[in-house]
Amino acid sequence: MRKILIVGGGTAGWMSAALFGKLFQGLYDIELVESEAIGTIGVGEATIPAIKKYNELVQLDEAEFMRRTQGTFKLGIQFVDWLKPGKDYIHGFGVIGQDWEWLRCHHYWLRANQRGRVRDFADYSINTAAALKNKFMHARADLAESPIGHIAHAFHFDASLYAKYLRGLAEQHGVKRTEGKIVDVALTATGDIAAVTVEGGQRIDADFFIDCSGFRGLLIEQTLKTGYDDWSQWLPCDRAIAVPCARTSPLLPYTRSTAREPGWQWRIPLQHRTGNGLVYSSKHIDDDAAEALLLANLDGAPLATPNRLRFTSGKRRKMWNRNCVALGLAGGFLEPLESTSIHLVQSAAIRLVRLFPDALDDQATIDEFNRQSDFEWERVRDFVALHYWANQRPGALWDYCRTMELPATLQRKIDLWRSNGRIFREDEELFSEESWIQVFLGQGITPRAYDPLVGIKSDPQIEQFLGNIAATIDRCVEVMPDHEAYIKTFCPAESTA
Ligand SMILES: Cc1cc2nc3c(=O)[nH]c(=O)nc-3n(C[C@H](O)[C@H](O)[C@H](O)COP(=O)(O)OP(=O)(O)OC[C@H]3O[C@@H](n4cnc5c(N)ncnc54)[C@H](O)[C@@H]3O)c2cc1C
Repeated sequence: MRKILIVGGGTAGWMSAALFGKLFQGLYDIELVESEAIGTIGVGEATIPAIKKYNELVQLDEAEFMRRTQGTFKLGIQFVDWLKPGKDYIHGFGVIGQDWEWLRCHHYWLRANQRGRVRDFADYSINTAAALKNKFMHARADLAESPIGHIAHAFHFDASLYAKYLRGLAEQHGVKRTEGKIVDVALTATGDIAAVTVEGGQRIDADFFIDCSGFRGLLIEQTLKTGYDDWSQWLPCDRAIAVPCARTSPLLPYTRSTAREPGWQWRIPLQHRTGNGLVYSSKHIDDDAAEALLLANLDGAPLATPNRLRFTSGKRRKMWNRNCVALGLAGGFLEPLESTSIHLVQSAAIRLVRLFPDALDDQATIDEFNRQSDFEWERVRDFVALHYWANQRPGALWDYCRTMELPATLQRKIDLWRSNGRIFREDEELFSEESWIQVFLGQGITPRAYDPLVGIKSDPQIEQFLGNIAATIDRCVEVMPDHEAYIKTFCPAESTA
């Protein structure tokens, strides 16, 4: 094993190149081939807090990265009209309240809520409370006892600037970039990938291939015919239109997702513009009407021609097939409702580092990589599908979702939650108990009961406990700086006006 070839220079390609370049420098030759003529998808601008692990691994400086990508901070996602028109909630990152004895905070909240003696669940999350007031600051490690020690943040950034920034890092670590459109893929006698040929005739041989070629899956599908698990029965949206618009103030520290009749609309605030898009089901609206719907619901003037995209929710049957691993859109697609795609690139790239083969016929390693990938993707699929299923909205798409048969893994979680508010994070599944609880409650799925062991505390004790948490959070948010002011001090990007 001497040479790794990364095919594609979108977010997935350059994220892997920067990571492998950093960790494998001197061990392998790494080359990336991309085609400016084909270009990148140009969307994918909202992340989740786990991206900080990637940033640490590639040792990027957060302030510089934010400046270079016109970044803003993200404390969570606001879901507007998802339960029904007029109702909204925030899925805030990080912890909610605090455990007491051996019980999670939400059990006490459920008890107090039944008695009508409690504030909104959101008031027990520092992230949500700060988001609603447009406040932001980094968590303070020296204040571990305070909610300020537990602020969990992610980022919004400009996707094309992000790929450019990572390219710089990857090249510093010795990754070689080749410009060119791949027109042929050669196989070995046993059916592995041997080489690619770019327009003009240059042949690039390698031992191991990372397919980051986007939806087309140039190696994993077009060449190796790996197959695709179609999940559109649970995630029926199959189109998107993206368009940036002029930014408005204030600069919100969260992504907004607004449910619409044929799907939903995203809003991602950046320093120089706002990213917007409509994800929709082509069975419920045609493309022209969808574009009109999106353009009618922008906060500012559109800055580019809308970009129309088609997809099928699902994933490759094997993310690793022969001597090829698919990352990013080449591996599959789950719609960006919970901003998970960039995370799935990162976690697959890290998984590959942990399972990097010393020989190419190590089937046990390949099987383990695929097993872990399947588990991760299926749990994310379940979490996203929950938002659709648990709705009380009018409209044909929403009627379908409310009555669809769910994956058994999701149904089991719902049943357990409904019975007495219990939820367990399985193995290394991405979303925490707090995430599931916020979406369950936000989407109107309230448990029949709570953990009976709540009875170890009296009602006045519970009310005092919850009251103290909410009051402390109020005081913390009060002293936190304004999000926009914080950005101006910490990571102001160059003006693009
Ligand atoms: C509507 C939408 C919204 C999204 N929003 C989010 C979000 O908010 N958060 C999030 O985490 N993710 C989001 N995503 C996903 C995110 O955009 C992708 O995960 C991410 O951009 C990775 O894309 P990629 O690099 O796999 O593909 P691409 O950006 O498509 O890159 C493919 C690369 O392959 C190259 N290539 C292809 N064919 C050839 C060839 N023949 N020869 C040479 N080079 C070739 C191209 O030139 C390009 O460099 C969203 C996706 C969509 C569709």
